[in-house]
Amino acid sequence: MEKIYQDICAYIDSRAEWMKERRRDFHKYAEAGWHEVRTCSIIADHLVRLGMDRVLMGSECFKADARMGLPDQDELDRVYQRALDQGAILPYAEKFRDGFTGVIGIIDTSRPGPVIAFRQDIDALGVFEDRTPGHKPYAGGYSSVNDGEMHACGHDGHATVGMTVAETLMKFRDELCGTVKIVFQPAEEGVRGARGIAESGILDDVDYVIGIHMYDRNTEEDYEIGVRANEEAAKLGKPQIGLAYARNVANAKLDVWFYGKAAHAMHPESGNNALLAALAASQAIYAIPRTSLGDSRINVGQIEAGSGRNVVCDRVKIVMELRGYTQEALEYNEAYARRIIEHAAAMHGCGYEIRMMGATAAVMLDTPEFVDELAKMAREKLGMIVAGPAPGNNSEDYSFMAMRVAQHGGKSCFFHCLTEFPDVFHGTGFDIDEADLLNGAKFFCGAALHLMGR
Ligand SMILES: [Zn+2]
Ligand SMILES: [Zn+2]
Repeated sequence: MEKIYQDICAYIDSRAEWMKERRRDFHKYAEAGWHEVRTCSIIADHLVRLGMDRVLMGSECFKADARMGLPDQDELDRVYQRALDQGAILPYAEKFRDGFTGVIGIIDTSRPGPVIAFRQDIDALGVFEDRTPGHKPYAGGYSSVNDGEMHACGHDGHATVGMTVAETLMKFRDELCGTVKIVFQPAEEGVRGARGIAESGILDDVDYVIGIHMYDRNTEEDYEIGVRANEEAAKLGKPQIGLAYARNVANAKLDVWFYGKAAHAMHPESGNNALLAALAASQAIYAIPRTSLGDSRINVGQIEAGSGRNVVCDRVKIVMELRGYTQEALEYNEAYARRIIEHAAAMHGCGYEIRMMGATAAVMLDTPEFVDELAKMAREKLGMIVAGPAPGNNSEDYSFMAMRVAQHGGKSCFFHCLTEFPDVFHGTGFDIDEADLLNGAKFFCGAALHLMGR
């Protein structure tokens, strides 16, 4: 291993204990999408202390109206106060009020070189964490104290890796060239946060964008990035990094309201029944004719309706999503669903409203030749055991970043930091091994050095 790579790996190794504590603190104070005030304030404080050339905070990171699926103002106010109560760092915390929970740290060496962006998502999700002694975070006293919010997807690890990468690259700043932008993105769950950052234009000069996700090294599912995907790697030992040539599945998450008119059930003719409109729409949406434009999925997952047994229902909310393996298949299904909603409402004399709560784009998350290059870098320059690359599918709002960078001729790699999961993604017993986070930080830093021509 060349000395600079050795030095960087040694530095990251020396931060193992700090990383473990950092991740456990994020885990304990889990903040779901658009709630991440405390998390962002800690990241911002860290980046400022490191002396990064620029630290963009809050509204500086977003095109405000491209953010999707924001909670209502009462909830935003409540979680802001909660963040302060739980030790959010002022004055930074104020920057992240009202759904502006993003941070971007920039190293601008002013020496000629590539512009590189690293993306970490930082949000928890709506899961009640397991509170039984068999669950390591509970036994260790760092399970979530925020009921119904849990890091059950490993983004606490991603945030920690990003902070470590920032620290490491700043430590070796004199050895670097070009620009590195380290993006801490909120609200990946529900695929709500990335579009606002991508559309801010911050990535428009980026030559290379790299994203991370924790993944189970023992998996044999979609990505095929586990042991089975690369028997050569398996012979060497446990794979540390997984690489894929992943295509992203396009995704549209819609909340739909039907507005009718309440009346006494003795006189239904005086009302307009929103429940009938919602049921007619739900049935018809499942019956959209198949398309040859691509494989697709449809789900109406939730209905909230009505106010009483003897009242004609005047208000219904349905929560639904559409997925397409091609953009065209998604657009076909979405347009069809919108027509159904409009006419089901009209059929029962109701009004309606559709809100886009989250979305992803159908693009390649990975530029194959770029992935190959980074696989080679990780094996040869970092001495890592790399599984894959293998073909895969995904549904990630990182797709907006990959798409934006590709539109300007840049390349993308979405890599997997491999660990072992005691429970499934989003399960109440989900956990990661912090020791595996070191590999994520090494991969990012190794990629930076390599792309800078080291
Ligand atoms: Zn997730
Ligand atoms: Zn995730």
